[in-house]
Amino acid sequence: MTAPNQTHGPDRKLTEEEIAGLRERVKAFMTEHIYPNEPFFHEHHPRRSAEGAAKLKELQAKTKAMGMWAPHLPSAAGGMGIGFMPYVYMNEILGRSTVAPMAFGSQAPDSGNAEILWQFGTKELQDKFMKPLVNGDIYSCFSMTEPEVSGADPTGLQTTARRDGDEWVINGHKWFSSQGEGAAFAIVMCASELDQPPHRRMTQIVVPSDTPGFNLVRAVPVMGETDGSHAEIRYNDVRVPITNTLGEPGSGFRIAQKRLGPGRIHHCMRWLGQMQRAFEMMCEYSLRREVYGSTLSEKQTVQNWIADSYVEIQASRALTLSAAKKIDQGDEARVEISAIKFFGAKVLHDVIDRAIQVHGALGVSGDTPLEGMYRGARAARIYDGPDETHRMVVSRRILQSFKAGNGWDFGVQ
Ligand SMILES: Cc1cc2nc3c(=O)[nH]c(=O)nc-3n(C[C@H](O)[C@H](O)[C@H](O)COP(=O)(O)OP(=O)(O)OC[C@H]3O[C@@H](n4cnc5c(N)ncnc54)[C@H](O)[C@@H]3O)c2cc1C
Repeated sequence: MTAPNQTHGPDRKLTEEEIAGLRERVKAFMTEHIYPNEPFFHEHHPRRSAEGAAKLKELQAKTKAMGMWAPHLPSAAGGMGIGFMPYVYMNEILGRSTVAPMAFGSQAPDSGNAEILWQFGTKELQDKFMKPLVNGDIYSCFSMTEPEVSGADPTGLQTTARRDGDEWVINGHKWFSSQGEGAAFAIVMCASELDQPPHRRMTQIVVPSDTPGFNLVRAVPVMGETDGSHAEIRYNDVRVPITNTLGEPGSGFRIAQKRLGPGRIHHCMRWLGQMQRAFEMMCEYSLRREVYGSTLSEKQTVQNWIADSYVEIQASRALTLSAAKKIDQGDEARVEISAIKFFGAKVLHDVIDRAIQVHGALGVSGDTPLEGMYRGARAARIYDGPDETHRMVVSRRILQSFKAGNGWDFGVQ
């Protein structure tokens, strides 16, 4: 096995001015190429239509030429090499549109899969799977959640990997493997070390989707999704080489933790982009829509919604950035990440909801992006762990600290 690589280590530390300049370039690209193409991609999703795929390739060629491709990865892995924090700030802008991460080569779950292949994959796995993935030539999925058992408590996952000579034999049933339909490979979470304690039983294994026994059952239809991409998959006696293992057997949870912590920050920054876009739409519309003799902006209810939204967005941003800075300093930031995961998901929902209400019937129509944003926001309270699990993590860890006589240090930030 190769030694783990450093995922986010920047090739060169960017200055604040450089980060600000990068954000301006991304904003300009969004205005020129992303927002105007949203209706087109709504009709022609790149994974479902040849026209959509061709148009996406055009945009990707532009971001590559501008040196803005794969911002989540170091340049040795085919990315921009800007490090964790600059990417966090960039994601706030990319998140304003679901099209942007695809155009910049950083859409989930490919981004997380590329990161763990870079950190824990052998050179052979990197050459075969990571390179074409990072280049945007193939898609992938992450296959962990199962219909029969709780995803919030993944110690009970039932998919198994049994050693047979130099091969794994995988059997199990997964669903919600996002992008599973059309994926060239899946990273599958399997119980392989059955005699070990729960958190050392799981192994992550790379499974090409053309392996016999990889059976795509269906794309589970999900509210807010136009590409029906959350796959139900049955793994029936799927045989792959033992060398397709990520890290060591039994390290599945540790690798998942490495992926999910920064991944949740990236979600939260993208949500900030969505909140800010909805907020801007709410403010602009309220200034021009006349109702009962004055604009909506003159009504105290609307003013309250704007004030509440502003405060909640700023609070979400502060919480997200403080968690991101802790991660950047090598802290796992478990409390901070869980706190912003459930708080951010609620603010995302509430701000979009208020923006829809201000727009009246227009808000629920397909003539603005708000209705799609709203449907997407509902799932945010569930994926990457439901609200209740994250509340449990926050309170449990804080109470543990109190029980140990340490109280809770809110820090200096
Ligand atoms: C849009 C979307 C994309 C996804 N993409 C992927 C993917 O790519 N790969 C993948 O493997 N999975 C994916 N998932 C699955 C997701 O990670 C799981 O749905 C999530 O972890 C919850 O698991 P579950 O659905 O089995 O719910 P369960 O674990 O069965 O939980 C059901 C409900 O129980 C409640 N609950 C849970 N824990 C507690 C608690 N401690 N206290 C009180 N109540 C509690 C919560 O309200 C929760 O919603 C995706 C899900 C969605 C919605």
